[in-house]
Amino acid sequence: MDNFLKLIIILWIIFFFFLLYQIFDYIKFKIYLKKLKNKPCICKEYLEKLDYYQKIPKNLKEIIEFKIKRFLIEKQFIPKYMQINDEIKCIIAFYACLPTIAYKNFCYPSLKYIYVYPHTIIKKHINQNGIVKKEMLISGESVGDAVIIAWDEAKRDIYHYQKRNVIIHEFAHELDFEEGMIDGIPVFAIEDFEHFKTIFNKTFQKAVKDRIIDEYAYTNKAEFFAVTTEYFFLRPKTLKVHYPELYKEYIKIFKFDPLKENQ
Ligand SMILES: [Zn+2]
Repeated sequence: MDNFLKLIIILWIIFFFFLLYQIFDYIKFKIYLKKLKNKPCICKEYLEKLDYYQKIPKNLKEIIEFKIKRFLIEKQFIPKYMQINDEIKCIIAFYACLPTIAYKNFCYPSLKYIYVYPHTIIKKHINQNGIVKKEMLISGESVGDAVIIAWDEAKRDIYHYQKRNVIIHEFAHELDFEEGMIDGIPVFAIEDFEHFKTIFNKTFQKAVKDRIIDEYAYTNKAEFFAVTTEYFFLRPKTLKVHYPELYKEYIKIFKFDPLKENQ
């Protein structure tokens, strides 16, 4: 047998084992999802307290409970200067999974950690010489493989204010990050990327002049996406009235219409 033939046989063997590994991995993943489906959701009692959960139809409740179970297994919660309990984990998981409700098997593949702080965090901007140039108070942050949440802000948003939501906001940034660039275009827009981008950019330019919604939305395109995602889920009428084209695009990418599903 000449050397070339030997090489071809070796490459085929490697390819065969690689394929076998992929098939095995896929079957393992499917079994894991099936087992998860039959496991009880520890979050039920906390979810029942949420207006948003109560208002969504039964089939969506089942989907989000399944997604929450997976989220709680796959993501690591890291409490900072506080104790963390199931209520905190369940509430964060619910609002993290809400924008992905139509994507049953999507579970933020790049995300690994969720840092939970008791209060707002001081973020220091340090220049090249190591000198603190600016200090800012933040209620959350998204940095690709990690999301930071200040629990007192999140709790206030959810149980009292209900017009903004730092958890939805930070996970909207994660959806933006999963697309590859932090530019306001989320991973779910990939199917119709150019069309979404055109409407999104046009609306952003209009919004910067109008200044109708929360001021923070005008910081840049990424913040505009995160803030308008909060509006889409929490104040859909306002978003629809002021930016109907963008609202229509969000129905398409989130495959969910809060004005119909959340009655
Ligand atoms: Zn933001």
